[in-house]
Amino acid sequence: MSAIFEILDKDAGGRIGRLRTPHGTVETPTVMPVINPNIQLISPKEMKSFGAEILITNSYIIYRKEELRSVALEKGLHGLLDFDGPIMTDSGSFQLSVYGSVEVTNEEILEFQQKIGSDIIVPLDIPTPPDVHYKRAEEELGITVERLEAARKLIQGEQLLAGPVQGSTHLELREKAASHLKDLNFEVYPLGAVVPLMESYRYTELVDIIAASKKGLSPASPVHLFGAGHPMMFALAVALGCDLFDSAAYALYAKDGRYITVNGTYHVEKLNYLPCSCPICSKYTAEELKKADNSKREELLGKHNLYATFAEIRLIKQCIKDGKLLELVEQRCRAHPRLLDGLKKLYTHSSWLEQLDPATKGTYFYCGPESASRPEVLRFGKRLDRFSLEGSVLIRPGPIKGENDYDQLLTFKAPFGAFPVAMEEVYPFNAEVPKFPDYEALSTALSNTLKLMDLNPQAEFTFVCEKEFKHPLIEKISNRAKLVYREPEKKNEK
Ligand SMILES: [Zn+2]
Repeated sequence: MSAIFEILDKDAGGRIGRLRTPHGTVETPTVMPVINPNIQLISPKEMKSFGAEILITNSYIIYRKEELRSVALEKGLHGLLDFDGPIMTDSGSFQLSVYGSVEVTNEEILEFQQKIGSDIIVPLDIPTPPDVHYKRAEEELGITVERLEAARKLIQGEQLLAGPVQGSTHLELREKAASHLKDLNFEVYPLGAVVPLMESYRYTELVDIIAASKKGLSPASPVHLFGAGHPMMFALAVALGCDLFDSAAYALYAKDGRYITVNGTYHVEKLNYLPCSCPICSKYTAEELKKADNSKREELLGKHNLYATFAEIRLIKQCIKDGKLLELVEQRCRAHPRLLDGLKKLYTHSSWLEQLDPATKGTYFYCGPESASRPEVLRFGKRLDRFSLEGSVLIRPGPIKGENDYDQLLTFKAPFGAFPVAMEEVYPFNAEVPKFPDYEALSTALSNTLKLMDLNPQAEFTFVCEKEFKHPLIEKISNRAKLVYREPEKKNEK
């Protein structure tokens, strides 16, 4: 029997995977549209046409409402929703977080999910919100872990069982919980209670929580970022190793008149144009959307929101195939300053990402100052001791006259630094970088070059520097190497 989760492609912490469930195999990363068993803006059956492969609904709502419950028990969950693909069920934890209590026990809701034929069952964990005192987070985590252990004993068949990682904003608790749950072999690991962070754009903390949890889990396990449904942050979360998202946003935003794009959300009242070419936006104008009656407008917005959401998932998957996920993350994170903070936070985890990131890819595009902190750059900095240099060594930005008079020839390219000429065409040194490196790129490149000089005290260095390069480290280089300034290249004048 093949594994429940199989990883096909990787880039940074992101991956394309296959998750096997009793109702079919799902390609990840993907989004599970949230289906409200009471009100359906878009029917579950229709969801496939947007690109949905798996849905999520709330078993507690079904359990509590007699009409729904009896149908679910008789025809099964798939019969109730009239959907034949995989369906994940939440347990009522969300209601617990909102109302403070639920009228069901962990065992009851687990057995109910099992009976109605859920594909991914979620125990009744305690979703401890952000910023609570350590003591409370630890106590609630204790209860969650007990319930998860009980769930693991109860659910043993074909159905998948999720083991939510809690711990509030306490990173050590998140990592501890994750590494404990790893040993219980859940099939899916949701990261819980992060919605308040996303709602208030606290992406730096979100990044740290994902990274801490991922570090505790096995890299082979699928991870669900519970409650994440806005496509603007999917690329960032995928790069950290999240495989599943769920979107109630498509419907909640539509109800509110909000139009989702990867660069943020518009209120439909403020739109003069529809910046999208999905079937809805191709058929209607902004004016028509505004004038539509409420339920029609809600339906049209909901559909556009789903199209926009799944288009981003497809782009992310293509970027993983092409080894360009981090380029996409860097672009997306420019949509909001808090996302940019999240990107910077992502790269504080570069040494961890570097262990996951494939050593060879297509290419490396420099997209901005943050690119200087990418895992590839960090990896090169760690491996400088692999070069041993002796005699006269010339470091130059590109071919110059008389370079063959030196014993060894190195190319200087920001943000990497100096590397043997023979590696110019090798990834990542074949990087596409700007002609005029920014301060961050020069800082990394020059400090790597200084480190290389320190590692090779015998060698005599000559450093050819472009005249435009302005950086305080150049003076340090001049203490260690013979510094020659190169005039900017002159175009042939007629
Ligand atoms: Zn559209």
